[in-house]
Amino acid sequence: MTSVTLRYFCYGCLVTSATWSFLLFLYFSMGAEPDRGRTPVRQRGQPITGGVADRRGGRRPLLPSKGVELSPEMGMIFNEADQEVRDSGYHRHAFNVLISNRLGFHRQLPETRDAQCREKSYPVALPSASVVICFFNEALSALLRTVHSVLDRTPAYLLHEIILVDDHSELEELKDELDRYVRAELQGKVQLVRNQRREGLIRGRMIGASHATGEVLVFLDSHCEVNQAWLQPLLAPIQKDRRTVVCPVIDIISADTLAYSPSPIVRGGFNWGLHFKWDPVPPSELSGPEGASGPIRSPTMAGGLFAMNRKYFNELGQYDAGMDIWGGENLEISFRIWMCGGQLFIIPCSRVGHIFRKRRPYGSPGGHDTMAHNSLRLAHVWMDGYKEQYLSLRPELRNRSYGDIGERVALRKRLQCHSFRWYLDTVYPEMQTAANGNKQQPLFINKGLKRPKVLQRGRLRNLAIGRCLVAQGRASQKGGAVVLRPCDPRDPDQDWAYDEEGQLILAGLLCLDVSEVRTFDPPRLMKCHGSGGSQQWSLGKSNRIYQVSVGQCLAAVSQLIGQKGYVSMAICDGSQTQQWQLEA
Ligand code: UDP
Ligand code: MN
Repeated sequence: MTSVTLRYFCYGCLVTSATWSFLLFLYFSMGAEPDRGRTPVRQRGQPITGGVADRRGGRRPLLPSKGVELSPEMGMIFNEADQEVRDSGYHRHAFNVLISNRLGFHRQLPETRDAQCREKSYPVALPSASVVICFFNEALSALLRTVHSVLDRTPAYLLHEIILVDDHSELEELKDELDRYVRAELQGKVQLVRNQRREGLIRGRMIGASHATGEVLVFLDSHCEVNQAWLQPLLAPIQKDRRTVVCPVIDIISADTLAYSPSPIVRGGFNWGLHFKWDPVPPSELSGPEGASGPIRSPTMAGGLFAMNRKYFNELGQYDAGMDIWGGENLEISFRIWMCGGQLFIIPCSRVGHIFRKRRPYGSPGGHDTMAHNSLRLAHVWMDGYKEQYLSLRPELRNRSYGDIGERVALRKRLQCHSFRWYLDTVYPEMQTAANGNKQQPLFINKGLKRPKVLQRGRLRNLAIGRCLVAQGRASQKGGAVVLRPCDPRDPDQDWAYDEEGQLILAGLLCLDVSEVRTFDPPRLMKCHGSGGSQQWSLGKSNRIYQVSVGQCLAAVSQLIGQKGYVSMAICDGSQTQQWQLEA
Protein backbone atom coordinates (compact mmCIF):
# COMPACT_ATOMS: atom_id res chain seq x y z
CA MET A 1 0.00 0.00 0.00
CA THR A 2 2.48 3.86 -0.57
CA SER A 3 11.40 15.00 -5.11
CA VAL A 4 9.85 15.52 -7.74
CA THR A 5 10.82 15.76 -11.37
CA LEU A 6 8.49 15.17 -14.19
CA ARG A 7 10.06 12.89 -16.67
CA TYR A 8 9.02 13.27 -20.22
CA PHE A 9 12.36 13.51 -21.92
CA CYS A 10 13.01 12.38 -25.39
CA TYR A 11 15.91 10.02 -25.56
CA GLY A 12 16.15 10.62 -29.26
CA CYS A 13 14.97 7.17 -29.94
CA LEU A 14 11.30 7.22 -30.53
CA VAL A 15 10.61 3.60 -31.27
CA THR A 16 7.27 2.65 -32.69
CA SER A 17 4.93 0.96 -30.32
CA ALA A 18 5.00 -2.25 -32.31
CA THR A 19 8.78 -2.43 -32.07
CA TRP A 20 8.50 -1.78 -28.39
CA SER A 21 6.01 -4.46 -27.86
CA PHE A 22 8.23 -6.86 -29.68
CA LEU A 23 11.32 -5.88 -27.70
CA LEU A 24 9.43 -6.21 -24.46
CA PHE A 25 8.09 -9.55 -25.50
CA LEU A 26 11.60 -10.72 -26.28
CA TYR A 27 12.83 -9.35 -23.01
CA PHE A 28 10.15 -11.09 -21.02
CA SER A 29 10.34 -14.36 -22.85
CA MET A 30 14.13 -14.47 -22.57
CA GLY A 31 14.04 -13.71 -18.89
CA ALA A 32 16.05 -10.92 -17.38
CA GLU A 33 19.28 -12.86 -17.37
CA PRO A 34 20.94 -14.41 -20.39
CA ASP A 35 20.91 -18.17 -20.62
CA ARG A 36 24.16 -19.40 -19.19
CA GLY A 37 24.71 -21.77 -22.05
CA ARG A 38 23.59 -25.12 -20.67
CA THR A 39 21.47 -27.06 -23.10
CA PRO A 40 17.90 -26.33 -22.17
CA VAL A 41 15.94 -29.42 -21.42
CA ARG A 42 13.12 -28.14 -23.51
CA GLN A 43 13.39 -25.51 -26.18
CA ARG A 44 11.50 -22.29 -26.03
CA GLY A 45 8.61 -21.66 -28.25
CA GLN A 46 6.38 -23.90 -26.23
CA PRO A 47 2.82 -22.73 -26.58
CA ILE A 48 2.66 -20.92 -23.29
CA THR A 49 -0.34 -18.71 -23.42
CA GLY A 50 0.66 -15.16 -22.86
CA GLY A 51 3.30 -12.85 -24.09
CA VAL A 52 2.91 -9.26 -24.88
CA ALA A 53 3.53 -8.61 -28.54
CA ASP A 54 0.80 -10.80 -29.92
CA ARG A 55 -1.76 -9.28 -27.63
CA ARG A 56 -1.12 -5.74 -28.45
CA GLY A 57 -2.01 -3.77 -31.49
CA GLY A 58 -0.62 -0.30 -31.53
CA ARG A 59 -1.44 2.26 -28.92
CA ARG A 60 -4.52 0.55 -27.58
CA PRO A 61 -4.77 -3.11 -26.80
CA LEU A 62 -6.77 -5.20 -29.22
CA LEU A 63 -8.85 -6.66 -26.46
CA PRO A 64 -9.29 -3.82 -24.00
CA SER A 65 -10.78 -5.66 -21.08
CA LYS A 66 -9.71 -9.18 -21.90
CA GLY A 67 -6.14 -10.18 -22.62
CA VAL A 68 -4.32 -13.31 -21.62
CA GLU A 69 -5.96 -16.04 -19.61
CA LEU A 70 -3.91 -17.50 -16.77
CA SER A 71 -3.27 -21.19 -17.31
CA PRO A 72 -2.12 -23.51 -14.54
CA GLU A 73 1.10 -24.29 -16.38
CA MET A 74 2.08 -20.71 -17.08
CA GLY A 75 4.86 -20.89 -14.52
CA MET A 76 6.55 -23.90 -16.11
CA ILE A 77 10.31 -23.74 -16.04
CA PHE A 78 12.00 -24.79 -19.26
CA ASN A 79 15.61 -23.92 -18.57
CA GLU A 80 18.04 -22.17 -16.28
CA ALA A 81 17.08 -18.72 -17.48
CA ASP A 82 13.46 -19.33 -16.42
CA GLN A 83 14.65 -20.67 -13.09
CA GLU A 84 16.73 -17.55 -12.60
CA VAL A 85 13.81 -15.24 -13.40
CA ARG A 86 11.63 -17.11 -10.97
CA ASP A 87 14.15 -17.35 -8.15
CA SER A 88 15.51 -13.83 -8.39
CA GLY A 89 11.92 -12.65 -8.71
CA TYR A 90 11.02 -14.27 -5.41
CA HIS A 91 14.11 -12.79 -3.84
CA ARG A 92 13.49 -9.24 -5.09
CA HIS A 93 9.72 -9.10 -5.15
CA ALA A 94 8.42 -12.02 -3.06
CA PHE A 95 6.10 -13.21 -5.80
CA ASN A 96 6.29 -15.31 -8.94
CA VAL A 97 7.74 -12.90 -11.48
CA LEU A 98 8.09 -15.61 -14.14
CA ILE A 99 4.32 -15.95 -14.28
CA SER A 100 3.86 -12.19 -14.02
CA ASN A 101 6.15 -11.64 -17.03
CA ARG A 102 4.41 -14.28 -19.08
CA LEU A 103 1.01 -12.84 -18.29
CA GLY A 104 2.10 -9.57 -19.82
CA PHE A 105 0.19 -6.36 -19.37
CA HIS A 106 -3.36 -7.40 -20.13
CA ARG A 107 -5.20 -10.38 -18.80
CA GLN A 108 -8.69 -11.62 -18.20
CA LEU A 109 -10.04 -11.48 -14.69
CA PRO A 110 -12.90 -13.47 -13.25
CA GLU A 111 -16.06 -11.61 -12.29
CA THR A 112 -16.02 -11.49 -8.49
CA ARG A 113 -18.86 -9.10 -7.76
CA ASP A 114 -22.16 -10.13 -6.36
CA ALA A 115 -24.88 -10.52 -9.01
CA GLN A 116 -26.69 -7.49 -7.59
CA CYS A 117 -23.74 -5.28 -8.52
CA ARG A 118 -24.22 -5.96 -12.21
CA GLU A 119 -27.75 -4.57 -12.02
CA LYS A 120 -26.70 -1.28 -10.49
CA SER A 121 -26.47 1.90 -12.47
CA TYR A 122 -24.41 4.96 -11.69
CA PRO A 123 -24.74 8.57 -12.78
CA VAL A 124 -22.99 9.24 -16.07
CA ALA A 125 -21.60 12.51 -14.78
CA LEU A 126 -19.17 11.59 -12.05
CA PRO A 127 -16.06 13.39 -10.78
CA SER A 128 -12.87 12.54 -12.67
CA ALA A 129 -10.14 10.51 -11.01
CA SER A 130 -6.39 10.85 -10.67
CA VAL A 131 -4.96 7.42 -9.95
CA VAL A 132 -1.77 7.59 -7.88
CA ILE A 133 0.54 4.59 -7.86
CA CYS A 134 3.75 4.69 -5.83
CA PHE A 135 6.37 2.04 -6.39
CA PHE A 136 9.71 1.04 -5.04
CA ASN A 137 11.63 -1.65 -6.94
CA GLU A 138 8.43 -3.08 -8.37
CA ALA A 139 8.62 -5.81 -11.04
CA LEU A 140 8.08 -3.98 -14.31
CA SER A 141 5.48 -6.45 -15.57
CA ALA A 142 3.40 -6.11 -12.39
CA LEU A 143 3.64 -2.32 -12.48
CA LEU A 144 2.59 -2.12 -16.11
CA ARG A 145 -0.19 -4.64 -15.63
CA THR A 146 -1.49 -2.38 -12.86
CA VAL A 147 -1.39 0.62 -15.19
CA HIS A 148 -2.95 -1.18 -18.13
CA SER A 149 -5.68 -2.71 -16.00
CA VAL A 150 -6.70 0.85 -15.11
CA LEU A 151 -6.51 2.01 -18.73
CA ASP A 152 -8.39 -1.05 -19.96
CA ARG A 153 -11.19 -1.03 -17.42
CA THR A 154 -11.86 2.64 -16.77
CA PRO A 155 -14.05 4.80 -19.00
CA ALA A 156 -11.63 7.32 -20.50
CA TYR A 157 -13.75 10.30 -19.54
CA LEU A 158 -13.56 9.38 -15.86
CA LEU A 159 -9.82 8.81 -15.86
CA HIS A 160 -8.19 12.19 -15.57
CA GLU A 161 -4.67 10.76 -15.31
CA ILE A 162 -2.45 8.13 -13.79
CA ILE A 163 0.48 9.37 -11.72
CA LEU A 164 3.31 6.94 -11.16
CA VAL A 165 5.64 7.89 -8.34
CA ASP A 166 8.96 6.09 -8.46
CA ASP A 167 10.26 6.09 -4.91
CA HIS A 168 13.91 6.13 -5.97
CA SER A 169 13.96 2.54 -7.19
CA GLU A 170 17.29 0.88 -7.88
CA LEU A 171 16.19 -1.70 -10.43
CA GLU A 172 17.55 -1.14 -13.92
CA GLU A 173 14.31 -2.12 -15.67
CA LEU A 174 12.54 0.78 -13.98
CA LYS A 175 14.87 3.39 -15.43
CA ASP A 176 15.24 4.20 -19.16
CA GLU A 177 13.14 1.26 -20.21
CA LEU A 178 10.20 2.50 -18.19
CA ASP A 179 10.72 6.08 -19.36
CA ARG A 180 10.61 4.91 -22.94
CA TYR A 181 7.59 2.74 -22.43
CA VAL A 182 5.66 5.52 -20.74
CA ARG A 183 6.59 7.89 -23.50
CA ALA A 184 5.94 5.55 -26.41
CA GLU A 185 2.91 3.68 -25.12
CA LEU A 186 1.23 5.61 -22.37
CA GLN A 187 1.77 9.20 -23.27
CA GLY A 188 -1.18 11.39 -22.61
CA LYS A 189 -2.64 9.67 -19.58
CA VAL A 190 0.36 8.64 -17.53
CA GLN A 191 2.82 10.87 -15.71
CA LEU A 192 5.98 9.49 -14.20
CA VAL A 193 7.36 11.32 -11.21
CA ARG A 194 10.76 10.31 -9.87
CA ASN A 195 11.66 10.91 -6.24
CA GLN A 196 15.23 12.13 -5.82
CA ARG A 197 15.56 10.04 -2.67
CA ARG A 198 13.65 7.26 -1.03
CA GLU A 199 10.64 8.79 0.69
CA GLY A 200 8.53 5.80 1.62
CA LEU A 201 4.99 5.18 0.53
CA ILE A 202 3.49 7.83 2.82
CA ARG A 203 5.36 10.87 1.54
CA GLY A 204 5.35 9.17 -1.88
CA ARG A 205 1.57 9.31 -2.01
CA MET A 206 1.60 12.93 -0.88
CA ILE A 207 3.99 13.75 -3.71
CA GLY A 208 1.75 11.93 -6.18
CA ALA A 209 -1.30 13.80 -4.86
CA SER A 210 0.50 17.13 -5.20
CA HIS A 211 0.84 16.48 -8.94
CA ALA A 212 -2.75 15.42 -9.39
CA THR A 213 -5.40 17.65 -10.86
CA GLY A 214 -8.42 15.33 -11.03
CA GLU A 215 -11.30 15.80 -8.64
CA VAL A 216 -10.84 12.51 -6.85
CA LEU A 217 -7.62 10.80 -5.80
CA VAL A 218 -7.48 7.04 -6.12
CA PHE A 219 -4.48 5.33 -4.55
CA LEU A 220 -3.35 1.91 -5.68
CA ASP A 221 -0.33 -0.30 -4.96
CA SER A 222 1.97 -1.08 -7.86
CA HIS A 223 0.93 -4.75 -8.04
CA CYS A 224 -2.83 -4.46 -8.44
CA GLU A 225 -5.30 -5.25 -11.18
CA VAL A 226 -8.59 -3.42 -11.21
CA ASN A 227 -11.63 -5.43 -12.19
CA GLN A 228 -14.72 -4.71 -14.28
CA ALA A 229 -16.48 -1.38 -13.58
CA TRP A 230 -14.38 -0.79 -10.51
CA LEU A 231 -14.30 2.99 -10.50
CA GLN A 232 -17.91 4.13 -10.84
CA PRO A 233 -19.03 2.59 -7.52
CA LEU A 234 -16.16 4.43 -5.79
CA LEU A 235 -16.88 7.80 -7.38
CA ALA A 236 -20.64 7.85 -6.86
CA PRO A 237 -20.62 8.00 -3.03
CA ILE A 238 -17.86 10.63 -3.11
CA GLN A 239 -19.94 12.70 -5.47
CA LYS A 240 -22.87 12.47 -3.07
CA ASP A 241 -20.82 13.48 -0.07
CA ARG A 242 -17.32 14.85 -0.51
CA ARG A 243 -16.32 13.76 2.98
CA THR A 244 -16.91 10.13 2.17
CA VAL A 245 -13.78 8.04 1.69
CA VAL A 246 -14.16 4.66 0.02
CA CYS A 247 -12.20 1.44 -0.41
CA PRO A 248 -12.78 -1.28 -2.97
CA VAL A 249 -12.92 -4.90 -1.87
CA ILE A 250 -9.35 -6.11 -2.19
CA ASP A 251 -9.46 -9.35 -4.15
CA ILE A 252 -6.59 -11.76 -3.76
CA ILE A 253 -3.92 -12.28 -6.39
CA SER A 254 -1.84 -15.24 -5.26
CA ALA A 255 1.84 -14.38 -4.94
CA ASP A 256 2.75 -17.88 -6.08
CA THR A 257 0.40 -18.52 -8.96
CA LEU A 258 -0.98 -15.06 -9.77
CA ALA A 259 -4.45 -16.59 -9.69
CA TYR A 260 -7.12 -13.97 -9.03
CA SER A 261 -9.79 -14.91 -6.53
CA PRO A 262 -12.56 -13.07 -4.71
CA SER A 263 -12.20 -11.88 -1.16
CA PRO A 264 -14.96 -12.40 1.31
CA ILE A 265 -16.71 -9.20 2.36
CA VAL A 266 -15.02 -8.14 5.56
CA ARG A 267 -14.24 -4.76 7.05
CA GLY A 268 -11.26 -3.11 8.66
CA GLY A 269 -10.44 -3.08 12.35
CA PHE A 270 -7.27 -3.03 14.43
CA ASN A 271 -5.88 -4.32 17.67
CA TRP A 272 -4.05 -2.58 20.50
CA GLY A 273 -0.75 -3.53 18.94
CA LEU A 274 -1.92 -1.08 16.26
CA HIS A 275 -2.00 -3.75 13.61
CA PHE A 276 -4.71 -3.69 11.05
CA LYS A 277 -7.00 -6.72 10.96
CA TRP A 278 -10.06 -7.84 9.06
CA ASP A 279 -13.31 -8.19 10.99
CA PRO A 280 -16.58 -9.81 10.07
CA VAL A 281 -19.22 -7.32 8.98
CA PRO A 282 -21.87 -6.80 11.68
CA PRO A 283 -25.33 -7.80 10.39
CA SER A 284 -26.59 -4.25 10.99
CA GLU A 285 -24.33 -3.06 8.17
CA LEU A 286 -25.95 -5.45 5.73
CA SER A 287 -29.54 -4.66 6.49
CA GLY A 288 -29.86 -1.56 4.30
CA PRO A 289 -31.92 -1.53 1.10
CA GLU A 290 -28.92 -2.68 -0.95
CA GLY A 291 -28.21 -5.64 1.33
CA ALA A 292 -24.77 -7.14 0.94
CA SER A 293 -23.92 -5.00 -2.08
CA GLY A 294 -24.34 -1.62 -0.36
CA PRO A 295 -21.53 0.44 1.22
CA ILE A 296 -20.23 -0.93 4.51
CA ARG A 297 -19.02 1.42 7.23
CA SER A 298 -15.49 0.45 8.09
CA PRO A 299 -13.60 1.57 11.22
CA THR A 300 -10.27 1.39 9.35
CA MET A 301 -8.83 0.82 5.90
CA ALA A 302 -6.21 -1.74 4.91
CA GLY A 303 -4.02 0.95 3.44
CA GLY A 304 -3.03 0.92 -0.18
CA LEU A 305 -6.32 1.14 -2.01
CA PHE A 306 -8.81 3.94 -1.51
CA ALA A 307 -10.47 6.91 -3.16
CA MET A 308 -11.03 10.35 -1.70
CA ASN A 309 -11.99 13.79 -2.93
CA ARG A 310 -8.67 15.53 -3.65
CA LYS A 311 -9.49 18.82 -1.96
CA TYR A 312 -10.85 16.97 1.03
CA PHE A 313 -7.61 14.95 1.21
CA ASN A 314 -5.73 18.26 1.46
CA GLU A 315 -8.14 19.83 3.95
CA LEU A 316 -7.98 16.77 6.15
CA GLY A 317 -4.20 16.97 6.36
CA GLN A 318 -3.09 14.50 3.65
CA TYR A 319 -0.81 12.21 5.60
CA ASP A 320 1.64 12.67 8.44
CA ALA A 321 4.82 13.57 6.55
CA GLY A 322 6.84 12.58 9.61
CA MET A 323 6.00 8.94 9.00
CA ASP A 324 8.59 6.89 7.16
CA ILE A 325 8.57 4.13 4.52
CA TRP A 326 5.67 1.87 5.52
CA GLY A 327 3.11 1.24 8.23
CA GLY A 328 0.65 2.96 10.51
CA GLU A 329 -0.52 5.51 7.95
CA ASN A 330 -3.64 3.47 7.24
CA LEU A 331 -4.80 3.62 10.86
CA GLU A 332 -3.79 7.28 11.13
CA ILE A 333 -5.87 8.36 8.15
CA SER A 334 -8.77 6.11 9.23
CA PHE A 335 -8.93 7.61 12.73
CA ARG A 336 -8.59 11.09 11.26
CA ILE A 337 -11.39 10.56 8.74
CA TRP A 338 -13.86 9.37 11.37
CA MET A 339 -12.80 11.65 14.19
CA CYS A 340 -12.76 14.80 12.05
CA GLY A 341 -16.14 14.63 10.37
CA GLY A 342 -15.72 12.16 7.50
CA GLN A 343 -16.81 8.61 6.92
CA LEU A 344 -15.08 5.52 5.58
CA PHE A 345 -16.79 2.79 3.61
CA ILE A 346 -15.96 -0.44 1.86
CA ILE A 347 -17.75 -0.73 -1.47
CA PRO A 348 -18.54 -4.38 -2.26
CA CYS A 349 -19.30 -3.64 -5.92
CA SER A 350 -15.81 -2.28 -6.57
CA ARG A 351 -13.18 -4.97 -6.88
CA VAL A 352 -9.44 -4.52 -7.16
CA GLY A 353 -6.97 -7.41 -7.00
CA HIS A 354 -3.76 -7.06 -5.03
CA ILE A 355 -0.77 -9.41 -4.83
CA PHE A 356 -0.55 -10.37 -1.18
CA ARG A 357 3.00 -11.28 -0.33
CA LYS A 358 4.24 -13.34 2.58
CA ARG A 359 6.99 -10.84 3.32
CA ARG A 360 7.91 -7.32 2.30
CA PRO A 361 10.95 -7.64 0.09
CA TYR A 362 12.48 -4.30 1.00
CA GLY A 363 13.84 -2.71 4.13
CA SER A 364 14.07 0.89 5.18
CA PRO A 365 17.20 3.00 4.80
CA GLY A 366 19.10 2.57 8.05
CA GLY A 367 17.11 -0.55 8.85
CA HIS A 368 14.73 1.25 11.21
CA ASP A 369 11.47 -0.24 12.39
CA THR A 370 9.30 2.35 10.69
CA MET A 371 6.10 0.67 11.81
CA ALA A 372 6.95 1.37 15.47
CA HIS A 373 8.01 4.96 14.73
CA ASN A 374 4.84 5.64 12.75
CA SER A 375 2.59 3.93 15.30
CA LEU A 376 4.08 6.01 18.10
CA ARG A 377 3.30 9.17 16.17
CA LEU A 378 -0.28 8.18 15.53
CA ALA A 379 -0.82 7.01 19.10
CA HIS A 380 0.45 10.30 20.51
CA VAL A 381 -1.56 12.45 18.12
CA TRP A 382 -4.87 10.61 17.95
CA MET A 383 -5.40 8.12 20.75
CA ASP A 384 -5.54 10.29 23.87
CA GLY A 385 -5.33 8.11 26.99
CA TYR A 386 -5.81 4.98 24.92
CA LYS A 387 -2.23 5.22 23.76
CA GLU A 388 -1.47 3.47 27.05
CA GLN A 389 -3.02 0.33 25.61
CA TYR A 390 -0.39 0.32 22.89
CA LEU A 391 2.49 1.31 25.15
CA SER A 392 1.65 -1.34 27.70
CA LEU A 393 1.99 -3.92 24.95
CA ARG A 394 5.22 -2.32 23.71
CA PRO A 395 6.93 -1.00 26.87
CA GLU A 396 10.28 -0.82 25.06
CA LEU A 397 8.82 2.02 22.95
CA ARG A 398 7.95 4.27 25.89
CA ASN A 399 11.17 6.21 25.68
CA ARG A 400 11.71 5.95 21.97
CA SER A 401 11.68 9.34 20.24
CA TYR A 402 9.16 9.80 17.50
CA GLY A 403 10.00 13.26 16.19
CA ASP A 404 7.97 16.43 16.34
CA ILE A 405 4.22 15.96 16.22
CA GLY A 406 3.34 19.61 16.85
CA GLU A 407 1.86 20.18 13.42
CA ARG A 408 -0.33 17.11 13.60
CA VAL A 409 -1.59 18.02 17.05
CA ALA A 410 -2.40 21.50 15.72
CA LEU A 411 -4.21 19.93 12.77
CA ARG A 412 -6.36 17.89 15.10
CA LYS A 413 -7.25 21.04 17.01
CA ARG A 414 -7.93 23.07 13.88
CA LEU A 415 -10.24 20.42 12.48
CA GLN A 416 -12.02 20.21 15.85
CA CYS A 417 -11.90 16.47 15.82
CA HIS A 418 -13.74 14.16 18.20
CA SER A 419 -11.96 12.28 20.96
CA PHE A 420 -10.63 8.76 20.50
CA ARG A 421 -13.20 7.66 23.05
CA TRP A 422 -15.92 8.99 20.74
CA TYR A 423 -14.41 7.01 17.86
CA LEU A 424 -14.37 3.80 19.87
CA ASP A 425 -17.90 4.28 21.16
CA THR A 426 -19.43 5.35 17.88
CA VAL A 427 -17.44 3.70 15.12
CA TYR A 428 -15.73 0.68 16.63
CA PRO A 429 -17.63 -0.49 19.71
CA GLU A 430 -16.45 -4.04 18.93
CA MET A 431 -12.97 -3.00 20.07
CA GLN A 432 -14.08 -2.84 23.68
CA THR A 433 -15.93 -6.11 23.83
CA ALA A 434 -13.97 -8.87 25.44
CA ALA A 435 -14.18 -11.12 22.41
CA ASN A 436 -12.14 -8.79 20.28
CA GLY A 437 -9.12 -8.69 22.53
CA ASN A 438 -5.73 -8.50 20.94
CA LYS A 439 -6.02 -11.64 18.95
CA GLN A 440 -4.58 -11.19 15.51
CA GLN A 441 -6.98 -12.59 13.00
CA PRO A 442 -5.79 -14.18 9.79
CA LEU A 443 -5.58 -11.77 6.89
CA PHE A 444 -8.58 -13.34 5.33
CA ILE A 445 -11.13 -15.22 7.22
CA ASN A 446 -10.81 -18.65 5.71
CA LYS A 447 -13.19 -19.81 3.14
CA GLY A 448 -15.38 -21.56 5.64
CA LEU A 449 -15.62 -25.18 6.43
CA LYS A 450 -16.48 -26.37 2.97
CA ARG A 451 -14.04 -29.03 1.91
CA PRO A 452 -12.84 -28.95 -1.69
CA LYS A 453 -14.26 -31.74 -3.82
CA VAL A 454 -12.01 -34.75 -4.38
CA LEU A 455 -11.54 -35.32 -8.11
CA GLN A 456 -9.46 -38.50 -8.09
CA ARG A 457 -8.01 -40.86 -5.57
CA GLY A 458 -5.71 -43.84 -5.37
CA ARG A 459 -2.06 -44.83 -5.22
CA LEU A 460 0.52 -42.73 -7.04
CA ARG A 461 2.73 -45.10 -8.99
CA ASN A 462 5.88 -43.85 -10.63
CA LEU A 463 6.18 -45.42 -14.08
CA ALA A 464 9.99 -45.55 -14.20
CA ILE A 465 10.46 -47.11 -10.77
CA GLY A 466 7.17 -48.95 -10.54
CA ARG A 467 6.77 -47.96 -6.91
CA CYS A 468 4.30 -45.84 -5.02
CA LEU A 469 4.62 -42.52 -3.24
CA VAL A 470 4.31 -42.82 0.54
CA ALA A 471 5.40 -41.03 3.68
CA GLN A 472 8.94 -41.84 4.73
CA GLY A 473 7.83 -42.12 8.34
CA ARG A 474 4.28 -41.92 9.65
CA ALA A 475 1.72 -40.45 7.25
CA SER A 476 0.67 -38.08 10.03
CA GLN A 477 4.19 -36.70 10.57
CA LYS A 478 4.16 -32.99 9.69
CA GLY A 479 7.24 -32.00 7.73
CA GLY A 480 7.94 -35.63 6.83
CA ALA A 481 9.53 -36.57 3.52
CA VAL A 482 7.93 -38.76 0.87
CA VAL A 483 9.62 -41.79 -0.70
CA LEU A 484 8.80 -44.60 -3.12
CA ARG A 485 8.00 -48.05 -1.81
CA PRO A 486 6.38 -51.17 -3.24
CA CYS A 487 2.73 -50.49 -4.03
CA ASP A 488 0.18 -52.10 -1.77
CA PRO A 489 -3.49 -51.64 -2.65
CA ARG A 490 -4.54 -52.55 0.91
CA ASP A 491 -2.40 -49.95 2.60
CA PRO A 492 -4.49 -46.88 3.53
CA ASP A 493 -1.25 -44.94 3.97
CA GLN A 494 -0.72 -45.08 0.21
CA ASP A 495 -4.04 -43.43 -0.52
CA TRP A 496 -3.78 -40.02 -2.19
CA ALA A 497 -6.71 -37.71 -2.84
CA TYR A 498 -6.42 -35.07 -5.54
CA ASP A 499 -8.95 -32.30 -5.07
CA GLU A 500 -10.36 -29.39 -7.02
CA GLU A 501 -7.92 -26.99 -5.39
CA GLY A 502 -4.99 -29.01 -6.69
CA GLN A 503 -4.11 -30.43 -3.28
CA LEU A 504 -2.59 -33.89 -3.02
CA ILE A 505 -3.63 -35.24 0.36
CA LEU A 506 -2.11 -38.41 1.77
CA ALA A 507 -4.28 -40.72 3.85
CA GLY A 508 -6.75 -37.89 4.42
CA LEU A 509 -4.20 -36.13 6.62
CA LEU A 510 -1.47 -33.97 5.16
CA CYS A 511 -0.79 -32.16 1.89
CA LEU A 512 2.15 -32.53 -0.46
CA ASP A 513 4.02 -29.23 -0.21
CA VAL A 514 7.10 -27.64 -1.77
CA SER A 515 9.04 -24.67 -0.44
CA GLU A 516 8.63 -21.75 -2.84
CA VAL A 517 11.94 -20.37 -1.74
CA ARG A 518 14.10 -23.48 -1.64
CA THR A 519 12.74 -25.19 -4.70
CA PHE A 520 15.61 -27.66 -4.69
CA ASP A 521 14.37 -29.18 -1.46
CA PRO A 522 12.31 -32.33 -1.99
CA PRO A 523 8.57 -32.04 -1.33
CA ARG A 524 7.24 -32.72 2.15
CA LEU A 525 3.99 -33.46 3.90
CA MET A 526 2.54 -30.41 5.57
CA LYS A 527 -0.71 -29.34 7.13
CA CYS A 528 -3.10 -28.38 4.33
CA HIS A 529 -3.36 -24.59 4.22
CA GLY A 530 -5.99 -24.33 1.51
CA SER A 531 -4.43 -21.34 -0.21
CA GLY A 532 -2.86 -22.98 -3.23
CA GLY A 533 0.74 -22.00 -3.98
CA SER A 534 3.12 -24.47 -2.39
CA GLN A 535 0.36 -27.08 -2.19
CA GLN A 536 -1.12 -26.63 -5.63
CA TRP A 537 -0.43 -29.43 -8.10
CA SER A 538 -1.76 -30.11 -11.52
CA LEU A 539 -2.14 -33.67 -12.80
CA GLY A 540 -1.74 -32.84 -16.41
CA LYS A 541 -0.77 -34.18 -19.77
CA SER A 542 1.70 -37.05 -20.17
CA ASN A 543 1.09 -38.28 -16.63
CA ARG A 544 3.06 -35.51 -15.04
CA ILE A 545 2.55 -34.06 -11.58
CA TYR A 546 3.22 -30.39 -12.03
CA GLN A 547 3.77 -27.96 -9.15
CA VAL A 548 2.00 -24.77 -10.06
CA SER A 549 4.01 -22.21 -8.09
CA VAL A 550 7.43 -23.86 -8.43
CA GLY A 551 6.97 -24.50 -12.16
CA GLN A 552 8.58 -27.95 -11.98
CA CYS A 553 7.50 -31.59 -12.03
CA LEU A 554 7.66 -34.30 -9.43
CA ALA A 555 10.36 -36.78 -10.47
CA ALA A 556 11.68 -40.05 -9.14
CA VAL A 557 15.42 -40.27 -8.62
CA SER A 558 16.23 -43.11 -10.97
CA GLN A 559 18.22 -45.35 -8.61
CA LEU A 560 16.70 -47.20 -5.71
CA ILE A 561 18.62 -47.01 -2.46
CA GLY A 562 17.97 -50.25 -0.67
CA GLN A 563 14.26 -50.82 -0.98
CA LYS A 564 13.46 -47.13 -1.11
CA GLY A 565 13.21 -44.72 -4.01
CA TYR A 566 13.57 -40.99 -3.61
CA VAL A 567 11.82 -38.09 -5.29
CA SER A 568 12.73 -34.53 -6.14
CA MET A 569 11.45 -31.58 -8.11
CA ALA A 570 12.85 -31.25 -11.63
CA ILE A 571 12.41 -29.31 -14.84
CA CYS A 572 9.51 -30.96 -16.65
CA ASP A 573 10.95 -33.01 -19.52
CA GLY A 574 8.34 -35.70 -20.05
CA SER A 575 10.79 -38.47 -19.12
CA GLN A 576 9.53 -41.66 -17.54
CA THR A 577 10.82 -40.71 -14.10
CA GLN A 578 8.29 -37.85 -14.23
CA GLN A 579 5.35 -40.02 -15.16
CA TRP A 580 2.86 -41.07 -12.54
CA GLN A 581 -0.31 -43.04 -12.53
CA LEU A 582 -3.06 -42.48 -10.02
CA GLU A 583 -4.47 -45.97 -9.71
CA ALA A 584 -7.61 -46.67 -7.76
N1 UDP B 1 6.38 1.63 -1.68
C1 UDP B 1 7.04 2.81 -1.96
N2 UDP B 1 8.11 3.16 -1.18
C2 UDP B 1 8.53 2.41 -0.12
C3 UDP B 1 7.81 1.23 0.18
C4 UDP B 1 6.73 0.87 -0.61
O1 UDP B 1 6.69 3.51 -2.91
O2 UDP B 1 9.48 2.78 0.53
C5 UDP B 1 5.24 1.22 -2.51
C6 UDP B 1 5.24 -0.23 -2.96
O3 UDP B 1 5.99 -0.40 -4.15
C7 UDP B 1 3.78 -0.52 -3.14
C8 UDP B 1 3.13 0.34 -2.07
O4 UDP B 1 4.08 1.32 -1.72
O5 UDP B 1 3.31 -0.13 -4.41
C9 UDP B 1 2.73 -0.44 -0.84
O6 UDP B 1 3.79 -1.22 -0.37
P1 UDP B 1 3.64 -2.80 -0.17
O7 UDP B 1 2.92 -3.37 -1.29
O8 UDP B 1 5.00 -3.35 0.12
O9 UDP B 1 2.77 -2.84 1.14
P2 UDP B 1 1.74 -3.99 1.57
O10 UDP B 1 0.83 -4.25 0.42
O11 UDP B 1 2.58 -5.16 1.92
O12 UDP B 1 1.08 -3.39 2.73
MN1 MN C 1 1.02 -4.17 -1.69
